[in-house]
Amino acid sequence: MQVHTTKCLIIGAGPAGYTAGIYAGRANMQPIIIEGPQPGGQLITTTEVENFPGYHEGVTGPKMMEDLRNQCLRFGAAIVNGIVADVDFSERPFAVRTATDEYRAETVIICTGAAARYLGLPDEKKYQGLGVSACATCDGFFYRNRNVAVVGGGDTACEEALYLAGLAKKVYLIVRKDYLRASKVMQKRVFENEKIEVLFNTNTVGLFGQDVVEGATVVTHKGTENENEYNIAIDGFFLAIGHTPNTKFLEGKLELDPQGYIVVKGQGAETNIPGVFAAGDVADPVFQQAISAAGMGCRAAIQAERFLVEHGE
Ligand code: NDP
Repeated sequence: MQVHTTKCLIIGAGPAGYTAGIYAGRANMQPIIIEGPQPGGQLITTTEVENFPGYHEGVTGPKMMEDLRNQCLRFGAAIVNGIVADVDFSERPFAVRTATDEYRAETVIICTGAAARYLGLPDEKKYQGLGVSACATCDGFFYRNRNVAVVGGGDTACEEALYLAGLAKKVYLIVRKDYLRASKVMQKRVFENEKIEVLFNTNTVGLFGQDVVEGATVVTHKGTENENEYNIAIDGFFLAIGHTPNTKFLEGKLELDPQGYIVVKGQGAETNIPGVFAAGDVADPVFQQAISAAGMGCRAAIQAERFLVEHGE
């Protein structure tokens, strides 16, 4: 196993990881970024990004991530492939291992992101970026005056349905149970919105369309005598059934909340282990935006630099 040493190891290469890399690189910390299984993060699966400041004409997700990556390289970050299998945060330098390499780092910034949950239908993959999305804030704009569906019954689903109702002609909210799990205030807003039709006791069984999504096949009251399968005409199909933070390899190693998100202190990026920081969706169950992740990556790198100064390194 090859051993590498660094002042700052960044795990994950989405907007948070790359921004941390830019700041740590400019601070002469010679960071190493381990890219992980999906270099570029969730944005690699996004077509058009219109809400990242600076790209006034919009940019594709892959192009934006390539730009961020190049900006990291410009300031001396080393970017390596690998999937972290194990970490040891019990003493400094911290040890982080992939299948082939061990990294000994004075500070670690974890930016492994989160993965949107999908229903598991083959059609979701087929129409990814062609009508299927897990982010209304990112993609809702493309469905102005069209019909869309949102799946889920939590606060995110309600929020996304309300957001889309401001743009789309009609929004179906597809809820598998006979009630919404969302907070009362969100429920009230949904029920009062004339553009939103809530389909309770309903599951999606498939999507259809020539090249892009043109509709969904849903089934109500499955397994009862009232079972009924029918099609709804939609152009956009939005998943809002939760995210899973990518923290499996951190269980028992640092403080996670009950949903598995890394707990950070206050407005910063400090975890419960001094010298270990977290940024982006892996530590943010609320905003989950590229720009907020990038902002956290910046904070994490600044805090890591200050940590090293305070420790005379
Ligand atoms: P939640 O876990 O709260 O809700 C997930 C929803 O998806 C549930 O309605 C669940 O159904 C449904 N679901 C899960 N799996 C499936 C499936 N396979 N098929 C169909 N439906 C499915 O996640 P959220 O992302 O909504 O919220 C996460 C946290 O963030 C919550 O604590 C929430 O309160 C908070 N939040 C707060 C906001 C605010 O205050 N403005 C905004 C957004 C989020 P079921 O109910 O049947 O299990």
